[in-house]
Amino acid sequence: MLSQRMSLLSGPGTVAAQEPAELAQLAAAAGRQIIDLAAGEIIIETPLSVREGAIAAINAGTNRYTDAIGLTLLRKAVAEKLAAQTHVGWNLEDIVITAGAKQALLNAALAVLDPGDEVIIIRPSWPTFASQILLAGAKPVFVDSRPSTYIPNIGAVRDALTQRTKAIIVNSPNNPTGIIYDPTTLRAIGDLAIDHHLWIVSDECYSCFVFAGRHESIVTAHPGVRSRTILVNTFSKELAITGWRLGYLAGPPEIVAAAKKLQSDMTSNANVIAQHAVLHHLEVGDCSFERKMHQRLSKARHTGLRILAGLEGVTVPRADGTFFFYLDLKRLISELSAEGPVRSADDIARLLLDETDVATVAGGFFGDMNGLRLSFGVPQDLLELGLKRVVETLNSLKTRQPSKGRVTKAHDPEK
Ligand code: PLP
Repeated sequence: MLSQRMSLLSGPGTVAAQEPAELAQLAAAAGRQIIDLAAGEIIIETPLSVREGAIAAINAGTNRYTDAIGLTLLRKAVAEKLAAQTHVGWNLEDIVITAGAKQALLNAALAVLDPGDEVIIIRPSWPTFASQILLAGAKPVFVDSRPSTYIPNIGAVRDALTQRTKAIIVNSPNNPTGIIYDPTTLRAIGDLAIDHHLWIVSDECYSCFVFAGRHESIVTAHPGVRSRTILVNTFSKELAITGWRLGYLAGPPEIVAAAKKLQSDMTSNANVIAQHAVLHHLEVGDCSFERKMHQRLSKARHTGLRILAGLEGVTVPRADGTFFFYLDLKRLISELSAEGPVRSADDIARLLLDETDVATVAGGFFGDMNGLRLSFGVPQDLLELGLKRVVETLNSLKTRQPSKGRVTKAHDPEK
């Protein structure tokens, strides 16, 4: 029999919930040409400097453990990079290299949470935050940001605090909404954290993906929270190397020490070849890859917003940050017949996959039955085709009873 802990987790491998990407993969495996607007990654070639760094490390025979929290030179390079980005001083002692941001976030949860503690999460939210809090024996407490256009309302956050609140998760630029929190909001969250002795976990994994406005780290907006902030970032998105598994956290000494203990016992160091590859990139890279990727995404966003302007009864999303369009389908869904088969964004995502071969992520995945997330990290031609199909389908919903749709292999439990 499995541990009770396992029943806390939904996600891949369970019968109840399949990850959106998994559904798309199953459909593709069944021979269908899926346009995948669901994936949380950018489809682009790996930077040359990263590849060269990896190959050089392999050819040099690199094969041994590193310090559990990473190569000293890489930690130093990350500290310098973070100092330049946040305008706050960081040293190598502040940095832990992890197997992606997921491990950094799990380190944070296991290091600071006790059973019964509560953690504030602003919803819609990336589901791993809640899963990891549950794994640590604590309780996620959700604050709905939808009434305040996805920027957390500070009064609502304050109302959600109890004696048991131990931490708040800040994710800006935000997955899935694409919203960037303004410095005033960040400062207000910082003040609350100080007043109520909270840890702040600041997930800034999309800090490089800003297309309108400006991203500011919470430690920049409110330097007074530095000693209570665990800043998390990753190379997964920034260098489009999700599968290489390399991220980091920056935090106060007790967090670095706790992360070192946790990683020593759980995984040891992040993959040594990936560490050398990214170190090489940080040493020799001239940011041309990052510039090229940003330009491509900027163009894709522009094209996408133009196509989405054709939506009837759905507001065009802001998409200021990240590489996601997040549609609010509340009005559209409320206008559809309650007796019809389409009653939520989950139904719409299923219909899009079944009828148009476009994979999207329904907001239910993020705790929002009205949202739909579309990635613009795919090649331009696929993006245009996929978004046109989305617009056409959504615009047709009111004037037709959606057909039952063919049963996809992805949903067929016999296959
Ligand atoms: N944080 C957020 C908000 C994410 O959206 C993701 C991945 O989608 C991660 C963290 C995980 O990143 P990594 O691949 O570095 O584990």
